[in-house]
Formats: sequence, structure tokens, C-alpha cells
Amino acid sequence: MIMGRVLIIGAGGVGRVVAHKCAQAHDVFNGIMLASRSVEKCEKIREEIKGRTGVGIEVAKVDADDTAALVALIRSFKPELVVNVALPYQDLKIMDACLEAGVNYMDTANYEPVDVAHFEYSYQWAYNERFREKGLMAVLGCGFDPGVSNVFCAYAQKHLLDEINYIDILDCNAGSHGHPFATNFNPEINIREVTQTVRHWDRDKWVQTPAILDAGSVHFQFDYPVAGPRESYLLYHEELESLAKNIKGLKRIRFWMTFSDNYLTHLRVLQNVGMTRIDEVDYEGRKIVPIRFLKALLPDPAKLGENYVGKTVIGNVMTGTKAGKGRSVYIYNVCDHEEAFKEVGAQAVSYTTGVPAMICAMLMVNGTWKGAGVFNTEQLDPDPFMDALNKYGLPWHLEEFSGRLPE
Ligand code: NDP
Repeated sequence: MIMGRVLIIGAGGVGRVVAHKCAQAHDVFNGIMLASRSVEKCEKIREEIKGRTGVGIEVAKVDADDTAALVALIRSFKPELVVNVALPYQDLKIMDACLEAGVNYMDTANYEPVDVAHFEYSYQWAYNERFREKGLMAVLGCGFDPGVSNVFCAYAQKHLLDEINYIDILDCNAGSHGHPFATNFNPEINIREVTQTVRHWDRDKWVQTPAILDAGSVHFQFDYPVAGPRESYLLYHEELESLAKNIKGLKRIRFWMTFSDNYLTHLRVLQNVGMTRIDEVDYEGRKIVPIRFLKALLPDPAKLGENYVGKTVIGNVMTGTKAGKGRSVYIYNVCDHEEAFKEVGAQAVSYTTGVPAMICAMLMVNGTWKGAGVFNTEQLDPDPFMDALNKYGLPWHLEEFSGRLPE
């Protein structure tokens, strides 16, 4: 068994799960460091991990916006891989540090410039040549969606369909955290994502539709396994970009997410009064960014787990042909908020992101996934990843799909 050392950056909701799961898999990770801006959060997670698994991990304080500090940390800890679960703003700085220090890289969300809510892989794909020249591997977007949603496509392409023509990714959180309004991952990043104008890819072009809060937003009721019928909104999500490029024969790809009326009403009011603005405003002689102030007021997603009940149901409906005949398949996972909390002290959204990140880290560290350059997960062999999902807490189900989706 090939073992390796891993440096995890970011000690929020997702970072906690990655650290716990890496400690559980200490037959692969023979050195684990959790580093973040607030070292106290790392220390707290270290104590919990010690108590639950007996495994000791190292912790450090680091500002991931400071490439030189990152390089120094990487050189002193000497990991095989850096797992970036800080914020999308740090992606490029951490990739730069990995190139300079000569280590592999992975993350769960594409780079975003702080001042524009803009979602595309071009910034990170531009690193392909540099990673390739150094013989290093970078895997982008390996949470659940993006991440597992891409692997489900690769699996369908390899085993279930000769050609995939239509993909619908359906993300349902049927859980309840007991707060009037909260987001399930970093509020700033989450609100930037869900308030943007929507796009999906249809026959070689991007089709734009209104944002989820705007008149004319596209939504329908999908009957989810376990969760039942839920209103699901068309949303732009970053994996659409890489899948539209990498899945051959694809005609259309869309992403849907459930939102409750309560969530939409709160968000609409916050947007209408200007609290979701990402630009600076003057407040009593100083500059503040409203969405950052809002983040400070909202519940910390990393602490939502305690009273969270219910389940998430995330999966893909993929339609195409097999042996000349039409076929439609649905692959999905159901994850329970309470079970996730019992295991690693986190709610299911952090859990469904952190477990795939650990699996990706494991496959990179033990050499199962190898390559030089920048990759999205659908470009890698799905089989060991799909096996690991079943083994490490996110079992998946495969069904023939006979339900209805909007035309
Ligand atoms: P959190 O806000 O809970 O955690 C982010 C962590 O990063 C915090 O500990 C924060 O430190 C730390 N951090 C922020 N800036 C820096 C910095 N400059 N240097 C060092 N550490 C820093 O976010 P989540 O855990 O909810 O999300 C983590 C990532 O996972 C995000 O990129 C998010 O987009 C992604 N994600 C991906 C999903 C997927 O399915 N692919 C789903 C959900 C999330 P501090 O504690 O001091 O604030």
C-alpha cells in the first residue's frame, strides 16, 4: 500500500470532514496537517479527531492568500498533496504555491475573483501546461457537485451508455436546521452562486434564463427518492462547463437545486435591501462589503449540524443510447444529516463535500489517479472512486429512470 502525507487548508465545515475522514483512512495518510487562518478551529478539530480515532494530526496557522507563507509551510511539512478546502478566492494562490514547492493539488470549488461573482474554469485550466511541465497533478472540483456529479457521468459513459445526450444534475436538501435562514456552506460563496443569472448548455451554446429570485425563473417539481416531490430550480453550476467539454455526444446539460419558499423569501428581502451586494459601501466613515457583514450575522454552516434533521438526495439523470436503444439512468446518493453529525460532527452538505475530497486525495496519494496537468474528475477512471464512495460513507444507487423532466 502506497502511503502519503496530506496538507488540508481550511478548517470550516468541509475542512473538518476532510480531516476526520483522512484520519479514519490512516492506512493511506501517514501524515495529516490541517492549516487555516484561525488556528483555534484546527486545534479543536485535532482534539476531536484524537478522541474519536486516536489519530494525531498536526495543525498550523496560515494565510492562504500569502503564497510565500504557503510555500514555506509546504516545504516544512513535505506533503504529497495539498487539499484546498479554504475559499475559491484562494485557489490560484494555492496552485502557485504547489507549483513552486513541487506538490500535487486538489480543490472542491472553482476560482472566483473577489470583486466579480464569475464562475468559470478558465483561470485554473490556464495552469495545465505549468503542472504538466513539472509532472504534477491538479484535480479541480472534487466535492459532491462538482465532483461526484462529474464521476457519475464518467461512470455512465464507461459502463451504462454508449453515448450520453442529456444530463440533468438534481440536488435536493430535504433537511431542516431549525434556523429561520441559514446557508449550508460559506454564506458569501453560497449567496454569490445562487443569485447569479442562470445558464445551461443546449446544443453547442449557453442558454441564459432568469436568476432563481427573478420573474420567469425556471423550476419544476421533481419526485426525489426518499425526499418526495420538491420544487427544483434551474441554476448555473460549474461542472456544466467541464462536462459540456468532456462528455462526447452531449446535447444538453442542466443543473437543478431545491429551494424552499422560506429560503427564497428571506433571500429576496436580503437582495432587495442591498445586503447581498459584493461591492464596498460607505458605512459611518468606513468601507464595508454588505455580503461579508451578512456572513458575520448568519449561522456558521460548520455549526449547523447539531440540530439538523433530514436528508440530502443528490444525483444525475443521464439519457442516451445503449446498443442502439434509448436508455435513461439515475444515479444518486442519499445522505442523512444526523448520521453525518454523529460520525464527524458536521451536517450532510459538508459531509457530502468532504468525503469525496478525501477519496480524491486518497486516490492521488496512493497513485490510483495519476497524471500530469490539470484535470476535472470526469477525465479520470470512475471505478475506484465509485467503489470508495460505497466504502467511505456515500453509497450510491443506480436505477433505470422513467420519470419526467422538463423539455
Ligand atoms: P467555511 O467558510 O466553513 O470554511 C472555509 C475555511 O477556510 C475557514 O476555516 C476559513 O478560515 C478558511 N479560510 C478562508 N480564507 C482563508 C485564508 N486566506 N487562509 C487560510 N484559511 C482561510 O466554508 P466551507 O467549509 O463551507 O466550504 C469550503 C469550500 O468548499 C468552499 O470553497 C466551498 O465553495 C466548497 N464547497 C464545495 C461543494 C461541492 O460540492 N463541490 C459544496 C460545498 C462547499 P476562518 O475560519 O478563519 O474563516
